[in-house]
Amino acid sequence: MSITFESLALSEPIQRALREREYTTPSPIQEQTIPYVLEGYDVMGCAQTGTGKTAAFALPILEHLDKNPRKRTPKSPRVLVIAPTRELAIQIEESFSAYGTHIRFQSEVIFGGVGQNPQVRAIQKGPEVLVATPGRLLDLMSQGLLSLKALEVFVIDEADRMLDMGFIHDVRKIIAELPAKRQSLFFSATMPDSIIELAGTILTEPKHVEVTPPATTVEKIDQRVCHLAKADKRDLLTDILRDHNEGLALVFTGMKHVANRIAEHLTKNGMPAAAIHGNKSQTARVRALESFRKGKIRVLVATDIAARGIDVKGIDLVINYDLPNEPDSYVHRIGRTARAGTEGHAISFCDELSQGLLRQIEKNIRMEIPVDRDHAYHRDPRPGDKDESQQQQSRRERGGGGRSGKPPRKRSNRNRGPRREKNDGNSGDRNTESSRNANRNRRRRRPRRNNSNG
Ligand code: AMP
Repeated sequence: MSITFESLALSEPIQRALREREYTTPSPIQEQTIPYVLEGYDVMGCAQTGTGKTAAFALPILEHLDKNPRKRTPKSPRVLVIAPTRELAIQIEESFSAYGTHIRFQSEVIFGGVGQNPQVRAIQKGPEVLVATPGRLLDLMSQGLLSLKALEVFVIDEADRMLDMGFIHDVRKIIAELPAKRQSLFFSATMPDSIIELAGTILTEPKHVEVTPPATTVEKIDQRVCHLAKADKRDLLTDILRDHNEGLALVFTGMKHVANRIAEHLTKNGMPAAAIHGNKSQTARVRALESFRKGKIRVLVATDIAARGIDVKGIDLVINYDLPNEPDSYVHRIGRTARAGTEGHAISFCDELSQGLLRQIEKNIRMEIPVDRDHAYHRDPRPGDKDESQQQQSRRERGGGGRSGKPPRKRSNRNRGPRREKNDGNSGDRNTESSRNANRNRRRRRPRRNNSNG
């Protein structure tokens, strides 16, 4: 018999909020984590986004607050959750508010990139739960506007991404300010050595919970890879999105300016789209996410960092316009679809320079991604492609790659035809142009989504 929320010792007001959200069965991470947190243990959780991990820590924390009410103290939260991005921080706070709608407590979220005064006023009221990104948190602490002295529970979410984004020093400074007596909960999608080491500095005799082995692809997602020339990527994207009549699509690019260009191109072609990345203002990001969430725009083009933690219902298609240079990011990206048991598709574009990245991803997820040949731009990978990308991969491993991890622009001419223009397919030399014309005359069909057809 499967476990129900009723069988987990959560009080009626919390159960009621869960019923209202039509949550009937705890997800595996919730089933494992909630009893430990209720008993006061530290927890080290390995779970991807989309597994329900926010409720796994939020529900027992709310239970603790409900059972142990205290007078509010200005500037001194009882619970602190730190998260790597503003979007994730906002979502976590929204989850606390939603699950705790029938209990007496207050939560606030703080993040950088916006004026601090409204946040300072909110903290002054003494919310029990504070969700924060590391930079703004430290900033307010250094001004004496926030204290962690009264902290009872500390949560670090998406710890691996926190380190990837260079927050390690901030995180260490925060840890140094935590009271010795506290409960700590630590969540990460992957558990490399650096994360295990960091967890060791925070947790005391933690209970370990894990719902999927690190870096395993969410199984429900139908995955495809389309091999094609770099110059054809934009046309294939346009074709796929034109056929994608329902649901929301999230497109990942490696570079911010490519995200902008694609969003503009799609919009011009009758598919309203927005781009989100680190160069966009907070207001622009929130506005784009809102339009996407409400379905006013059905395509969002994002870079990894901006998209981290996005939990938008109804994303049924993720497109990797550029493959991620870190294999783990592949899992995070495609995890944006098929949330909470819904159906999801992930299509990855693999151009002539990305064969090495694809192999790394496949090694990481321990499966070969089925190749979709059923589109107008299919191009079998050539042996020369492999050589070049392998060289680039080893160059990257030696530290020679660019910051974005994209292959360097300079190309070797070995095993190659005439040079192509390096842009996304607006122009091209005669060779590219003629191959594209030939492709146009072939069938233009949407990549098939059904495994058995592949
Ligand atoms: P998370 O991994 O916390 O980002 O959650 C992923 C999605 O699953 C969110 O949309 C949650 O609202 C939803 N969710 C979390 N727990 C449950 C549950 N027990 N039953 C149904 N949906 C859930």
